Amino acid sequence: MSKKVYLDYAATAPCDELVLEAMQPYFFEKFGNASSLHSYGQEAKAAIEDSRAKLAFFLGARPEEIVFTSGGTEADNYALLGVASALEKKGNHIITSVIEHHAITEPLKFLEKKGFKVTYLGVDRDGLISLEQVEKAITDKTILISVMHANNEIGTIQPIELIGKIAKEHKIYFHTDAVQTVGHIPVNVDDLNVDLLSLSGHKFYGPKGVGALYIRKGTRIDTFLRGGDQENGRRASTQNTPGIVGLGKAIEICAQIMAKEIKFQSALRDRLIREIPKLIPQVKLNGHPAKRLPNNVNFSIKFIEGESILLSLDLHGIACSTGSACTSSSLEPSHVLLAIGLNHETAHGSLRITMGRWTKESDIDYLLEKLPPIVEKLRAMSPLYEKK
Ligand SMILES: *Cc1c(COP(=O)(O)O)cnc(C)c1O
Repeated sequence: MSKKVYLDYAATAPCDELVLEAMQPYFFEKFGNASSLHSYGQEAKAAIEDSRAKLAFFLGARPEEIVFTSGGTEADNYALLGVASALEKKGNHIITSVIEHHAITEPLKFLEKKGFKVTYLGVDRDGLISLEQVEKAITDKTILISVMHANNEIGTIQPIELIGKIAKEHKIYFHTDAVQTVGHIPVNVDDLNVDLLSLSGHKFYGPKGVGALYIRKGTRIDTFLRGGDQENGRRASTQNTPGIVGLGKAIEICAQIMAKEIKFQSALRDRLIREIPKLIPQVKLNGHPAKRLPNNVNFSIKFIEGESILLSLDLHGIACSTGSACTSSSLEPSHVLLAIGLNHETAHGSLRITMGRWTKESDIDYLLEKLPPIVEKLRAMSPLYEKK
């Protein structure tokens, strides 16, 4: 067996075995429908409420402010479409950033077609939006501001608490996509001044296909899925009991070991940020040097294609990611990398390395051993690269 090194935790993380163990009984023995009145149903309901309480505790929220969803994408769609629908008589203006996940930008495009106006705030070279810009963009028609907590590509962490303060002063709802931060760094809804917050289980060692939207008490938002009265009538459909149990267990584990994980992963991150430029000439760190996720490293490696690097690394069993997507239908590099001012060429040469719970120091050694010769070989073949 050749060595396998997974360094793509921002895309998804394996489910923790303890999470899997907690979920297991809810597929067969404890399979009840949480809406049923008999003991089977009550058992499932109790397990769901236990998870809700755990998640609420982690976020500094109340259990009744948590709605379980099918993932981060649904939570984002629910927040945007739900608030837009509830407040359309009040106003039709929404403020966001140019570096949001597609789970935000696509529903916003849909709202634009329906007559909403969206202001997309630019970011600086580190990927940060400016507070003055937020303030300036607000009009008397603004009903919602949505800015992601940390960016999934470049790892930059936004000053959410300060943006939230501005939103609060203007009595405008504030949503954050915290899919990359929940379980990874402290996230408290009061400290962050948010009214709505999205999260997803599979990004913090829970199962795929389950997430949640935090909705501050009193927030006006329309029901997203209509049908039964599950989730207090906010999201119909029989609850995914095993998934919700897994999400609860996953957040519980994160709460216990997060401080240690932050320390370990940020040390690996800083090692990569220090060593890659020493081993490879002509590279550029993308994202903020300090205000970034503990597990995120993103470099542009000039004169070569991110996808070629990825495929070569994969031959050595190393899994990373890139903002370049030449083999996909679009030739456009990542909108995030273009937004921080990279030209197309540099954006196409990006390499994202994201670490997680099972990343070892020796994995980083292995990457640092394999990457430089790969880059050298690809550059030797690149017409863009002129040897000095
Ligand atoms: C992964 C991700 C999502 C989507 O979450 P899913 O659970 O996969 O639907 C949304 N936003 C960000 C920032 C993400 O990283």
